[in-house]
Amino acid sequence: MSDTVSFGYEDIPASEKTARVGTVFTSVARNYDLMNDAMSGGLHRIWKDDFVRKVRPRPGERILDMAGGTGDIAFRLHKTGAHVTVADINPAMLEVGMARAAKRRLDGLVWSEANAESLTFPDRAFDAYTIAFGIRNVTDIPAALREAHRVLKRGGRFFCLEFSTTTWPGFAEVYDAYSHHLVPRLGQLLAQDAASYRYLIESIRRFPDMPAFKRMIEEAGFAQVSAQPILGGLVAIHSGWKI
Ligand code: SAM
Repeated sequence: MSDTVSFGYEDIPASEKTARVGTVFTSVARNYDLMNDAMSGGLHRIWKDDFVRKVRPRPGERILDMAGGTGDIAFRLHKTGAHVTVADINPAMLEVGMARAAKRRLDGLVWSEANAESLTFPDRAFDAYTIAFGIRNVTDIPAALREAHRVLKRGGRFFCLEFSTTTWPGFAEVYDAYSHHLVPRLGQLLAQDAASYRYLIESIRRFPDMPAFKRMIEEAGFAQVSAQPILGGLVAIHSGWKI
């Protein structure tokens, strides 16, 4: 990994990124779910449903939902009877998630504070690994992908839902204008926090496009890696197998 990494549009020392991302998510945790609906017009719910359908969780499977935050993906996986561990580096996000689970009377989820780059789970512990809108916030993405590979069983599935680059003509410009101007204002209005939402938008632009991210997943050891674009690639689901 190089000495500097992107933090939104800034280049910062790699050693500082994890802490700065931590400050963002500690700040947004309380309003995270409301803001997701406001920013995406509720679309994130459809993308997440689609994502979990693709995972095809089965009863009794062990699934690690990395960067699981307030539990949106984990709750969907849990409904199918899978044993889900929600891991996230940020205790404030996990606290909101645990409170939501308690309110919905969801028992049996395991909540774990963990950095995706260096997990304490043993080798080959999980049948599937999911990460939604999390990987672009990780400082050392190749390290996180290698850890995903390590903790999966042979035959285990990897799934990543993340913003990417849309190839629909004209749509990218419209989305850019919307996201750069309106999202920080929404953040200010609804959560009194324009700066955190500016980071979240800028970090989308700095994330590798589909072919580049697909290569990174392959380099971590995954086979049959594929990318499914949503809205021309505005969002993408990458998946692969550990064989
Ligand atoms: N997966 C949830 C969802 O789709 O609603 C939460 C996504 S939220 C945009 C990104 C999450 O990534 C935050 O909860 C943040 O704390 C977590 N995160 C950032 N860096 C991480 C790291 N190195 N290891 C684990 N989690 C991380």
